[in-house]
Amino acid sequence: MSDTIEKVKCLIIGSGPAGYTAAIYAARANMFPVLYQGQQPGGQLTTTNEVENFPGYPDGVTGPEMMIQLQEQAKRFGTDIRDGWVTKVDFSGEIHKVWVNDTIEIHAETVIISTGASAKYLGLPSEQKYLQLGGGVSACAVCDGFFYRNQEVVIVGAGDSACEEAHYLSNICKKVTMLVRSDQFRASRIMEERVRKTPNIEILMHTETEEVLGDGQVVTGVRAKNRTTGEAIEIPATGFFVAIGHKPNTDIFADYLDLDETGYIKNIPGTAKTNVAGVFVGGDAADHVYRQAITAAGTGCMAALDAERYLAAKHS
Ligand SMILES: Cc1cc2nc3c(=O)[nH]c(=O)nc-3n(C[C@H](O)[C@H](O)[C@H](O)COP(=O)(O)OP(=O)(O)OC[C@H]3O[C@@H](n4cnc5c(N)ncnc54)[C@H](O)[C@@H]3O)c2cc1C
Repeated sequence: MSDTIEKVKCLIIGSGPAGYTAAIYAARANMFPVLYQGQQPGGQLTTTNEVENFPGYPDGVTGPEMMIQLQEQAKRFGTDIRDGWVTKVDFSGEIHKVWVNDTIEIHAETVIISTGASAKYLGLPSEQKYLQLGGGVSACAVCDGFFYRNQEVVIVGAGDSACEEAHYLSNICKKVTMLVRSDQFRASRIMEERVRKTPNIEILMHTETEEVLGDGQVVTGVRAKNRTTGEAIEIPATGFFVAIGHKPNTDIFADYLDLDETGYIKNIPGTAKTNVAGVFVGGDAADHVYRQAITAAGTGCMAALDAERYLAAKHS
């Protein structure tokens, strides 16, 4: 544990679009934000080469480039950007205690949580190979579906999000094959009905992915197996979408903040406020619905504005 305790007005946890946007607003409001980047400086977007839907980039931009620009913008107004991983918090008092790397102790008047979420993958070596190569594996239909327009894709999953994403892809792609591992959907009846009624979605129940096939650079198909009959099939596809859920990075806050059943932080609707005064949330850590860079940036902005108003009221 540290000998000295640092006191800050505004501590931002996470360096994705939500964290950097919060930092830009907080710094310009003289809140002298300190931002800890965590294990993935720049956040999820650093793992993609093509961002085409963030406004202001008519020719698109790579994820890493965009995140460097956001970082520079946050620095320009004086954000103190640091390496470090928040390992523990204590939100029981008026001053919020945060520990970094289990050693540094910080006391913050306001905390903005922007720790994001991580997509779950099947974990097959072939899936991970083409994911790393950027060769046709994705966990985000809204982000990447456009790259497969008029092509054939496979999607894995059985919940509401999987149905939503399959339906989204069916409007762009020639054919969508949906692989459902068990004999039933986990989605609501209405979402299941919607995919079942969509002519270019083929649903294969009781079917498990065995391997993502490719030419060494890009995906060319999927080998799957029917779990009842044992029959193996090969499905031609240029894209393989995984829609089996996300894990929000919120475990360390569970003792103090209200979380939903999957671990997303509950914000007070229409605000970035949590159930603890002075603790705010932006980005994917509280958003299981939209999960986009622009919505993360938007809610990061809300978090900084709410924090600024909280401080103004406290000190008035
Ligand atoms: C491959 C891929 C492609 C995508 N493409 C697009 C796209 O084209 N367009 C689009 O709009 N969206 C896209 N997305 C979604 C987008 O990346 C996310 O919606 C967005 O990054 C969420 O931002 P965030 O700031 O909430 O969190 P994240 O980007 O997830 O960042 C979380 C940050 O928190 C930090 N962190 C976590 N825990 C701690 C801790 N304990 N202490 C300190 N720091 C911590 C991490 O290091 C990281 O910096 C894509 C996502 C992926 C995975």
